[in-house]
Amino acid sequence: MSSKYNNVLEMVGNTPVLKINNIDTGKCNLYVKMESLNPFGSIKDRVGLKMIEDAETQGLIKEGSTIIESTAGNTGLGLALAAKLKGYNLILVIPDKMSEEKIMHLEAMGVEIIMTRSDVENGHPEHYQSIAEKLLESTPNSFFANQFENQSNPKVHFETTGPEIWSQMEGEIDAFVAGVGTGGTISGVGEFLKSKNPDIKIVIADPVGSVIADAVNNGEFKYDGGSWYVEGIGEDYIPGNLNLDIIDEGIYVSDKEAFHMIDLLLQKEGILAGSSCGTLVDAAVKWCKAQTEPKTVVTLVCDTGNKYLSKAFNKDWIKKNIN
Ligand code: PMP
Repeated sequence: MSSKYNNVLEMVGNTPVLKINNIDTGKCNLYVKMESLNPFGSIKDRVGLKMIEDAETQGLIKEGSTIIESTAGNTGLGLALAAKLKGYNLILVIPDKMSEEKIMHLEAMGVEIIMTRSDVENGHPEHYQSIAEKLLESTPNSFFANQFENQSNPKVHFETTGPEIWSQMEGEIDAFVAGVGTGGTISGVGEFLKSKNPDIKIVIADPVGSVIADAVNNGEFKYDGGSWYVEGIGEDYIPGNLNLDIIDEGIYVSDKEAFHMIDLLLQKEGILAGSSCGTLVDAAVKWCKAQTEPKTVVTLVCDTGNKYLSKAFNKDWIKKNIN
């Protein structure tokens, strides 16, 4: 890959893979793919760009169109990057638990933001997805990106993230661990890796309180109103873009374990990772330690910790909220 670019959009993807050296991973080798190095700092830069490119190709947006999306912030930033450079309007509906840094970055992009409640279930009229759908009806010439159902989301991971991992690892990979927000990452990467080698295990890292790991491990789930502070992953339902058929196992990770792990990543590995990465790496380490034979495992640094300096890396916030 060249390191001289003509446009920032060319810099989306092709992120490096890094070995974890100083955290105990039992008999296994653990690698993280540094999605934090995308231009706007997350794996969702890939998805924002791809959803806009595909909508253009399919004639769903044209000059003057308004793109609407419900997002934890990172998809909004990915969309903002591509929409800005391509000249589309963008309105984002964002749950109010998301970090100030992400909101400030979006505001700096000149994006219209509608804040909504984080404490309501999917299907509730004030849920961020319901509000986005209503907005769509009242906005002329609008397009709902809808990352939870839009096929461009898993597709970009099937076409780019998965093949990058396979080639960077030279086919030497026994398990891939990721969280589920929309399910796009784990489904796209998982389907690609299993197409190369069906023995590769696809493992979900899930915040305690989310229903996804239960759905994988028990085949059924019941949302009991639980909540978690890690951002971008964990759900109270099964999103349309999650392909449960290719998932082998779900691992539960508490907020305490996740926030401890991102601190460890910073102190021991020099990796400034976002909160969901704490969940992913903690789950990957648990999977590694359960192995009796040496295995090679890959997970993700989904976004940069720069987005969470006021929370995850703020001792007062941690003391007040994580126990
Ligand atoms: N980590 C972070 C920080 C995210 O913003 C997201 C997306 N919401 C994810 C992980 C989960 O990715 P996906 O939507 O592909 O399941």
